[in-house]
Amino acid sequence: MAKPKLLEIGLRDLREEKTATEAARMAGQMGTCCKCFRYAPTDANRLCRLCAQGYVYLLSAENGYYKIGRTINIQSRLRSLQREFPLEIKLVHYFECDDYIATESSLHKIYGAYRKGNTEWFALPVGAVDKICEM
Ligand SMILES: [Zn+2]
Repeated sequence: MAKPKLLEIGLRDLREEKTATEAARMAGQMGTCCKCFRYAPTDANRLCRLCAQGYVYLLSAENGYYKIGRTINIQSRLRSLQREFPLEIKLVHYFECDDYIATESSLHKIYGAYRKGNTEWFALPVGAVDKICEM
C-alpha cells in the first residue's frame, strides 16, 4: 500500500530539517530564534528558517513616492499603513522571501540614493520600479 502523501511530505521535511540542523550545528550557526525562541539554525538576524520567511512589498502613494517594506501579512500591513497614511496608497508588487528582513534591507541600501530622508519612502525612477517588479 502506498504511503499517504501528507505523511511522505512530513517525513521529507523532517529529514531536510534534520540535515539543515546538523549542517548548521557543525558550522556554528545554531542559536535561539529571537522570535519563537526555538533552538534552531538562525540567520544573521537571529531568526530561525520559519520566522525569517515573509514578504517584501513595493507600494506607491498618490504623491509619487514609493515605499519598500516588509511584512509577514500583506493584507493587514496594507490596511494598517492606509490607516496611518493620509494619502491613498497602492500595492505595486510583492514577493515571498526566505529572509525578508535581509532582502528589504538590501533593497533599502541599493536604492539609498533615492531615499527621502530617514523614511522608507523613495523617489524611485521607472527603471528601479521595473527591476523590483521582476523580483
Ligand atoms: Zn523562530
